[in-house]
Amino acid sequence: MTDWQDRFGRRIMKSIGMPLRELDHGRGAWVWDVDGREYLDFLAGVAVNSLGHAHPVFVDAVSRQAAKLAHVSNYFTTEPVLELAERLVRLAGAGEHGRTWFGNSGAEANEAAFKLARLNHSGGARTRILALVDAFHGRTMGSMALTGKPHMRQPFEPMPGGVHHIPATLEALEAAVDESVAALVLEPIQGEAGVVELPDGFLRAARDLTHRHGALLIVDEIQTGAGRTGEWFGFQHAGIEPDAITVAKGIGGGFPIGGLVTFGHASELFQKGMHGSTFGGNPLATATANAVLGEIERAGLVENAARRGIQLRERILGLGSPLVTGVRGRGLLLGVALADPVAERVSHAALDAGLIVNAANDRSIRLAPPLIIGDAEIDEFAVRFAAALDAAAA
Ligand SMILES: *Cc1c(COP(=O)(O)O)cnc(C)c1O
Repeated sequence: MTDWQDRFGRRIMKSIGMPLRELDHGRGAWVWDVDGREYLDFLAGVAVNSLGHAHPVFVDAVSRQAAKLAHVSNYFTTEPVLELAERLVRLAGAGEHGRTWFGNSGAEANEAAFKLARLNHSGGARTRILALVDAFHGRTMGSMALTGKPHMRQPFEPMPGGVHHIPATLEALEAAVDESVAALVLEPIQGEAGVVELPDGFLRAARDLTHRHGALLIVDEIQTGAGRTGEWFGFQHAGIEPDAITVAKGIGGGFPIGGLVTFGHASELFQKGMHGSTFGGNPLATATANAVLGEIERAGLVENAARRGIQLRERILGLGSPLVTGVRGRGLLLGVALADPVAERVSHAALDAGLIVNAANDRSIRLAPPLIIGDAEIDEFAVRFAAALDAAAA
């Protein structure tokens, strides 16, 4: 056991497994470990480092704002939070009624969404919240209650009540949405489940049904947002308007931030004193998110994500590996489906070949590279991933 493994094993809570490497620094889509070995990073801190590592725009934004004003409390406001609120409302298409709330993580964003759902009384008392089987919404009590993986919830029961999980089928949706439902919460693509798309027409049907029955449609865009799927937000592929979206991960490009964007009447549900966060919306996080989202816009990285996603899918299928049965997902959030339950072996072999990918489950490799990747990174990826698939198949 190396020194860092020993130290980690002693002093970090056992809730996290032993990390794969100790990393030291990064640049663009590349990171280096403490032994000087380089890795092509096709995970980007799980869809977080939108601009890759140490991007000058990111470094500059953090440095400048830290030298100016890092935190002020909710008794004051600052230009960066106003600008980020306006930017997210514009990018989400939330229009003149759009509002935002900021926290520091995805789970916190979904907690805010949970509370928002509790405030929806349209047409009488409503206690039910619907979420999908296999969904992942976070690890706090509320966000875990929404998470559709019983083994994650079980040690911590009882959960905050009223959440019902339904399979992602049109029949189950139609049977479940009625006047007792306060909200339906879902991911447009289930990232943690192994990058699983919703069935065709599901989001549209979800919108129609929730609308008809006075329930909120809350879309968790924490993994799919910030341009990753080739639109600013995943719901935009379906051409619908939700009542709220939750964001985190990629919008900060590596700086912790999460938030809620509301549309229409959902923007009027929270009243003074009902929710808050000490760090939420602080100038350091919001200035950085502004810079990251501004650079995604300026450099056309949403279009790049769409284009590179198609290219990457073709390259993976073109490898002709008998282990690969398909590629799911959209833009730069892809799931490589494996014929055998060897995802962990593939991800370890990839590391040995200098490539970071993620075994989302036994038979799925998740790819979420930074949005800045181009031909050179895709060529390097193809060589290293082919080597990893061969090693895992052997
Ligand atoms: C990562 C993730 C979360 C939780 O975000 P944290 O920042 O880890 O709390 C929630 N929902 C989805 C879809 C995610 O991918």
